[in-house]
Amino acid sequence: MEPARLRAEFAAAVGEDGVIDDPTELRAYECDGLTGYRVVPRLVLLPRTAEAVAAAVRVCARAGVPFVPRGAGTGLSGGALPVADGVVISLQRLRSILEIDPVNCRAVVQPGVTNLEISRSVAAHGLYFAPDPSSQQVCTIGGNVAENSGGAHCLKYGFTVHHIHEIEVVLPNGSITTLGGESDHVAGYDLLGAFIGSEGTLGVVTSITVRLLRKPTAVQTLVADFDSVDDAGDTVTAIIAAGIVPAAVEMMDTLAIEAVEAAVAAGYSRGVAAALIVELDGPVDEVAAQLAEVERLCHEQRSIAVKIAATSDERATIWKGRKAAFAAVGRISPDYFVQDGVVPRTRLSETLNRISELADAAGLRVANVFHAGDGNLHPLVLYSEAAGELERAEHLSSAIAELCVELGGSLSGEHGIGTDKACSMPRQFTEADLATMLRLRTAYDPVGLCNPGKVFPTPRLCGERPGPHRPHPLEAAGLIERT
Ligand SMILES: Cc1cc2nc3c(=O)[nH]c(=O)nc-3n(C[C@H](O)[C@H](O)[C@H](O)COP(=O)(O)OP(=O)(O)OC[C@H]3O[C@@H](n4cnc5c(N)ncnc54)[C@H](O)[C@@H]3O)c2cc1C
Repeated sequence: MEPARLRAEFAAAVGEDGVIDDPTELRAYECDGLTGYRVVPRLVLLPRTAEAVAAAVRVCARAGVPFVPRGAGTGLSGGALPVADGVVISLQRLRSILEIDPVNCRAVVQPGVTNLEISRSVAAHGLYFAPDPSSQQVCTIGGNVAENSGGAHCLKYGFTVHHIHEIEVVLPNGSITTLGGESDHVAGYDLLGAFIGSEGTLGVVTSITVRLLRKPTAVQTLVADFDSVDDAGDTVTAIIAAGIVPAAVEMMDTLAIEAVEAAVAAGYSRGVAAALIVELDGPVDEVAAQLAEVERLCHEQRSIAVKIAATSDERATIWKGRKAAFAAVGRISPDYFVQDGVVPRTRLSETLNRISELADAAGLRVANVFHAGDGNLHPLVLYSEAAGELERAEHLSSAIAELCVELGGSLSGEHGIGTDKACSMPRQFTEADLATMLRLRTAYDPVGLCNPGKVFPTPRLCGERPGPHRPHPLEAAGLIERT
């Protein structure tokens, strides 16, 4: 379709003030939190309603224009990276809380509402939304659904997928449907479950019915210091083996603590090899008993100091430090990659030691701050682009992700595959696995217009599997052509 006509059709769909085509403004959308990849989109669309989203997607379908859904752009795997000849559909104007139902502990929200805003808006009812990414002040619930986001408290409460009843979705053909249902028990295939975590490749979420939890009556938080990472790792295993499921178990190493203290002075002990943050919540008596047991286990596992937050302000300061950790690393390194991988919890110490060896071999530093209870690592690979360290840092980051798979874990725990890890997918999944996932994707999006280039490796271009060229399953199905 001729560019002026296409622009006019998009303007008819989302309103004239909902189309960005100014080259300078478009640059604001050229990347997400993975800033190493940048593509300026053809247009950005800012619809105000689900119907406008659907109308815009129908234009895309008619004209064969790829589209990329976008929330706040905090994703760390390049999931919202634009396509050069495509449009970005930003959900930022769909940011209303549509309904709060305290009796049934649920709320209906639009996708552009931030994660924290949900909890704030229901706090007066003693309720909150449990998944708590560190980016929760900014990231949107639409992005959380697309990434199946987690956070510190997902150890006990589960990920986004465990807190969604129903979503309204604009499918890639521009029709609107709902997945899931008001009840927790919906018959038939779990299409809602398949959609959550699909990274914007199956459609655009336009409304979400979230499940809310009652705030616990008691909360206790402690920080335990260790002079060995192994001891900290063993403590995590010991706590879970004792039958305790804390609300959160987070770990930070020396470098991460140094960065956090430089940035927000959260009161962590500088110079220790590792610190564990353990939070317990629930009924008062249960929390008191678990706190005593966790403290005992920390000492048994050679913790050198255990500090229990005495007030809610002290607890908030501990969390402020943890949640600021990624950004704080900017204090100790000009550039860094945030890696995201999972290992079995019992292999934490081994993994951290192997990461340290890989970092030494690459001549780079790695700071570790992560959800230890889940075995969900976030190694931060520190480098200086100006000093020519980018390529080494990229290799080190990929090697860490692949190490996680080798140790029986996963390429990603919560940040998604996106653009960043698409090439590494064959390390974790067989060709048959990937073909099965692709069949699901093509069932929703036969022509591949919805967030193309994400999640799935591109044969040969990525070089992910050495050997002769094999046609991509979409090519084999006659759905796409290699040009
Ligand atoms: C400092 C920092 C800390 C972070 N901490 C955490 C953490 O603790 N846990 C965690 O899980 N993540 C974390 N993240 C990653 C990120 O915040 C999450 O992935 C978040 O869910 C992304 O939300 P967003 O609104 O920014 O989405 P975007 O980055 O805009 O998009 C992310 C993906 O979702 C898709 N998408 C967005 N909206 C929609 C929609 N309405 N319909 C369909 N697809 C959509 C996009 O196409 C893209 O693939 C962190 C990021 C930063 C920068």
